[in-house]
Order: sequence, then structure tokens, then C-alpha cells
Amino acid sequence: MSQPAEGKLAYRAMVLEQPGQPLQLQHWPLRAPGTNEVRIRVLACAVCRTDLHVVDGELPQPKLPLVPGHEIIGVVDAVGSLETRTAEPPYSGTLAATGSAEWKVGQLVGVPWLGWTCGQCDCCRNGRENLCELAQFTGYTRDGGYAEYVYADPRYIFAVPESYTPAEAAPLMCAGLIGYRSYRFAGEARRLGIYGFGAAAHLLVQLARYQGRQVFAFTRPGDRAGQEFALRLGAVWAGDSDKLPPEPLDAAIIFAPVGALVPQALQAVRKGGVVVCGGIHMSDIPSFPYRLLWGERMVRSVANLTRRDAQEFLTLAPKVPVRTHVRTYPLEQANEALADLRAGRLTGAAVLIP
Ligand SMILES: [Zn+2]
Ligand SMILES: [Zn+2]
Repeated sequence: MSQPAEGKLAYRAMVLEQPGQPLQLQHWPLRAPGTNEVRIRVLACAVCRTDLHVVDGELPQPKLPLVPGHEIIGVVDAVGSLETRTAEPPYSGTLAATGSAEWKVGQLVGVPWLGWTCGQCDCCRNGRENLCELAQFTGYTRDGGYAEYVYADPRYIFAVPESYTPAEAAPLMCAGLIGYRSYRFAGEARRLGIYGFGAAAHLLVQLARYQGRQVFAFTRPGDRAGQEFALRLGAVWAGDSDKLPPEPLDAAIIFAPVGALVPQALQAVRKGGVVVCGGIHMSDIPSFPYRLLWGERMVRSVANLTRRDAQEFLTLAPKVPVRTHVRTYPLEQANEALADLRAGRLTGAAVLIP
């Protein structure tokens, strides 16, 4: 077991050497945090579908070797020096309280997918740092949380609501944050469809209900267990993804990585409705007749998250309160957790505990 001190000590990490191969348990040297780094002792890291896309080689140019994982909850263990970027525009007042705080050893924090942005480009300066061309992503282009320790930029980590255990809080960091961004883009929808009732959907249905909206849950055809799970969480209707809902929807969010759902969802939304694609990867979208898009219907994607999304969602979540459903695995069983997610054997989220 590693100790929080420098020297010849090492920490355990589950490492991707090559896409398509199982993760390997390795011992990496524990070093002091550098400039703009905090060292965090990981308490829990949830397993996201994006991790599968990284491990399976479906996303281009990951850092290699790589520690995956971007839904990290941990304790600040050591703090490096902070070099502020003078050209960087200020963020909103509330964000400054967490996004650029000087963290203290012992604070409970969360590390999300967005790991670093340039702070200088048009996107960064106009509230779209999620689209920064130079952005770095935790567990993809930076090492992530399938490990006992992670090094993060202190301006991109967040205080975690104290009403959650680390395992419960972990799925909030991506399923929650990127799910929330998708939800924001669904606008004021009163009748909201969700295709793919996994980790993100099971958090959003609670928020939607809290805000007086109706959720229509679509699962793989015949997935009665998934449909019952959605109804138990508060969906007003649950059914097969190849069926139409009983009434037209104001908006739909697609979390399943299945392009064929785009024309399906367009058929389910009313004129002027929006279909939001919330995943980072999707199979090809089949061609469809223009009449499905006609009537000012829209299709849009959601990419990554901004720190504002994190700030808003982590403030809202404990008020609802959004409850997470998790299944924990020891860190060494990361490959088993990924396999269970790939096979659809999970309701709720897999969480690794170092
Ligand atoms: Zn930028
Ligand atoms: Zn994720």
C-alpha cells in the first residue's frame, strides 16, 4: 500500500498499454505535484461508456500508456504551485470559488473529463471551453482515476457535496455533468424522451421530475427490466426504442451510441423539437426522409462539459437530491467492470474502489 509521501514509493494503477488489450496492473512512482497540479488520493472512480470507447480504440490518439477514468472522487493529498494565466478572462463569480480555488490538503474533490483548456482561444473566451482545440481530457489525453493517485489541474476540479459517499458521488462527475449539459440543451421541454437508460439517464430522470417535467424512457426493444427500472425512478412511460411514445415529445436526448436512434427520435419529437446526441461516439446515422427533420426540428450533439455545467449540476444535485445507483469493484477488477458495462449487465454505474 502506498503512503502519501515522495521518494521511492509507488502507487497501483490499471494501465492501458495498447487499445484493444486488457488493462494491466502496474506500479507507478509517486512524485510531488508540479506547477498547476494537485495530487489527489483516489477514493472512487466510476466507469463510463467513454472509457470503453478509449480502451476499445474507438477514439483517436489516446495518451499511451494511459490510466483511464474521468469520474474521480478523492482527497487532496499534496498541492503544487499555481501559475495563473494573466491573459485568461475571469469566469463567473461562483465558478471562481471552485474552478480556481487554492485547495487544501484533505479537501474532498471531484475530477471530471475536462482536464485542461488553453484559456486563450475564441472558444475559451466565449464560454465554450468544452470546444477548445487544445483541451486535455482526463483518462484520455491525461492520466485518470483507475489508480490510487491522480494528478489534476486545480482549476478544473470541484468540491464534492458532503451528502454523498465517494462511491455515490463518482457517477455525478460525468454521467451527471455531461448528462446535465445534454439536459440543458433540451431547453424547457416538458415532455422529454431519453434513449438509452444507463448511468446518465438514471440521474437526469430524478432532476427532470424535481423540475416538474415528464420523462419518457426508451430502452433496447424487449428490455423489460430496464423499462421497469426507469419507471421506478420516475419516468411516466417506458417502452422499446423502435416504438413511438403515446404523445409527441418536446425534446429527446440520445445516450445510446446507436445512430439509428436519430431518425427514431426525430419521429417522436414535435415540430420545433430538438434531438440531442449526448454521447462522444455513435454508429453511423442511416439516411432518412427530409420530412422527419421538416418543421424546424433540430439535431445537435453535446461535446464534453464546461466548468459552468459542473458548477450548476453539483449545486443542484444535493437539492433534488439526485441519488446514484452503484456497484463497486476493487481497482484490480477494472477489466471485469468494463466487461460488465460492455455486456449491458449493469443497472446504474460501476465504480472502482482503490
Ligand atoms: Zn482554448
Ligand atoms: Zn464519461
